[in-house]
Amino acid sequence: MRSLNLCIFLSLTVAVVYSLPLDRDQPPQQITHKDEEFAESYLKSFFNLTKEHKRSFGRRGVNPMVEKLRDMQRFFGLSITGSVDADTLQMMKKARCGVPDTQVALFSTFGGDQKWRTTALTYRILNYTPDMTRVEVDESVEKALNVWARVTPLTFRRIERGTADIMISFGRGSHGDYYPFDGPQGTLAHAFAPSTGIGGDAHFDEDEDFTFSSRRGYVLFLVAAHEFGHSLGLGHSRDPGALMYPNYIYKNPDTFQLPRDDVNGIQSLYGPNVNVNPNEPTPPTTPDSCDATMVLDAVSTLRGEMLFFKGSFFWRKHPQNPRPRQSLISSFWPNAPEKVNAAFESRQTDRVYLFQGRQVWAFSGYDLVSGFPRNIDYFGLPRNVNKINAALYDTHKSRTLFFVGDQYYSYDEARRTMDAGFPKSIETLLPGHTSKVTAGFQYRGYTYIYSGSNILEYSLRTGKLFRVLRNDYFLPCAN
Ligand SMILES: [Zn+2]
Ligand SMILES: [Zn+2]
Repeated sequence: MRSLNLCIFLSLTVAVVYSLPLDRDQPPQQITHKDEEFAESYLKSFFNLTKEHKRSFGRRGVNPMVEKLRDMQRFFGLSITGSVDADTLQMMKKARCGVPDTQVALFSTFGGDQKWRTTALTYRILNYTPDMTRVEVDESVEKALNVWARVTPLTFRRIERGTADIMISFGRGSHGDYYPFDGPQGTLAHAFAPSTGIGGDAHFDEDEDFTFSSRRGYVLFLVAAHEFGHSLGLGHSRDPGALMYPNYIYKNPDTFQLPRDDVNGIQSLYGPNVNVNPNEPTPPTTPDSCDATMVLDAVSTLRGEMLFFKGSFFWRKHPQNPRPRQSLISSFWPNAPEKVNAAFESRQTDRVYLFQGRQVWAFSGYDLVSGFPRNIDYFGLPRNVNKINAALYDTHKSRTLFFVGDQYYSYDEARRTMDAGFPKSIETLLPGHTSKVTAGFQYRGYTYIYSGSNILEYSLRTGKLFRVLRNDYFLPCAN
């Protein structure tokens, strides 16, 4: 029996209110009966919660819903509570694909026999969406197949008539299989695992707004590249950087590179491309919190949580939850820079500021504050500062400190001016500290200065150094 691997992206844009308290002292989100029902249907669709499971309730003494919730929480790196909490619900409401996430692993496949027996595959575009020009559709499809062809021996030849291995079509509602589409903002597309007949085929929901490269709507190239991963035999990955991660996340199609996890996945089925281009850039990897040598780009607090930035990713950690949660910066703040050099939270304005080069972005919750991004002279920083290495807010003196090379600046947010006499040598603030400051933040009255993969615990008032800690003191290994 061929298992059906259909892929559905859900897009519920109102969902994000659950995960971030609008106010630091806001009580926890109330979970309603409707939320419980929504969670149950989600687990049925994506985690194989079945009627049989429901009937088995009582026999083994474990509620199957609780078991499936735990599976889901494990997959997404949430805290494993076994209950429908706010974080879980928020993740369930995110844009995603509908192939069940039963594998709690990095890349996954549909099993040994669900792959093509030949490397010379064919595809055919049966019809077109009016959202884009025909040339744009052709190019998006070709580019999406190339993503996989570049790293494997697979080749894709387009045919104009007859039956291709991968038949590509756009349709709305019931469109000839048993998986009708559901109108705008729901199911985006689905694809079938390798086999004859419908196997390998990819269907796109015509009720969605597909685009060539815009952030508005869904980039056909990105959706198609993910779907073709299924067409070739890949399941989902829990690596938040992977193309085969279940959620739809915008990425610039012009600079897109297939991540390492997906390369490993597809090569486990078909092997590498022996004719690899020597100029091919190495595939991007997702930072690993278990890497003891990792040097973080920036650290900040946000409404009681801690944020740790590395590359285009960050981890969020709640003090009550030892498990940090990793995501792409862009999936949390779509308007943020791809990477950050420094970050700090202003308690005064309840904003978090992210720095990249000579630009600064301000966010209030999920929202980019109007007027941002702007130049760092907003903070009175001189023109010769090209990049801030670290920033932190000193609650004792009500000052924002900016670290640049071996110097630092002190900014008075209340008066909106740079303090006189700056920059000063970092040693005047942190006696004996001669190495570069890479990140910093304050927590429970102490100041934590990151220098490489070490953290130095200081009292800024006395300049006393208490302890030298390792990265994993605040950001534990999540695997
Ligand atoms: Zn998928
Ligand atoms: Zn279909």
